[in-house]
Amino acid sequence: MPELPEVEICCRQLASHLAGKTIRRVTIPDNKKIHLPSNLVGRRITKIYRFGKFIILQLDDDRRLLIHLGMTGWFELDPPAKYRLSLETDGATAYFEDPRRFGNVRLVSAGQQEKILGQLGTDPLTPGFDLTPLRKTKRPVKVALQDQRLIAGVGNIYASEALWRARIHPTKPASRLRHDECRRLKSSLIHVLRRAVAFGPKIFESQRFAVYDRKGQPCRRCRNPVQRMVLGGRGAYFCPHCQR
Ligand SMILES: [Zn+2]
Repeated sequence: MPELPEVEICCRQLASHLAGKTIRRVTIPDNKKIHLPSNLVGRRITKIYRFGKFIILQLDDDRRLLIHLGMTGWFELDPPAKYRLSLETDGATAYFEDPRRFGNVRLVSAGQQEKILGQLGTDPLTPGFDLTPLRKTKRPVKVALQDQRLIAGVGNIYASEALWRARIHPTKPASRLRHDECRRLKSSLIHVLRRAVAFGPKIFESQRFAVYDRKGQPCRRCRNPVQRMVLGGRGAYFCPHCQR
């Protein structure tokens, strides 16, 4: 599932090709699940940005296209064999590819956007981000990190990676994180997210994880085998030696 870094990469790509452009045509092959009015045509896209796992395309009439990539969503600039939506502008055309169809594109007002994004926690790549909300819950820190209402944008991959870097066991109750652990976790989280964003569109083939999806393989720090456990219904990868 695309998490903050993948969404940021996708967002930057859209921004560099579609920001400032005028919508010429909207095609919706998947019109059973995606519903957009025809009066988008002629509107200019004034701004494209991200918050958590959402991409926001702001229009010149103050409405916004609010995009969530779901499990498998992505935007391509060349037409893929199958896509759910295409957004043709006087510049580029963006194609929304999403084989599992859990992603979503909807048109919202500024007020609706505020309501939806207002339910989310802070975004780790915005200034002033801190982990204080995390310490309000007794749930395992790995599960708390993935709660979008506490922190926006982190999922399974980067929660595992940040905890490994910070040397914190994924089952540790978030409320019991010490101040030094909180500081380490915050800087580790920002580090793994920024490093992932830096891969750009090549992220899927270039990124090498520390623990995620590496069960049984040697820890990159101590060479002990990485373990996997299920926490909150998701796989947590960790090194039992480095993360006690
Ligand atoms: Zn280790």
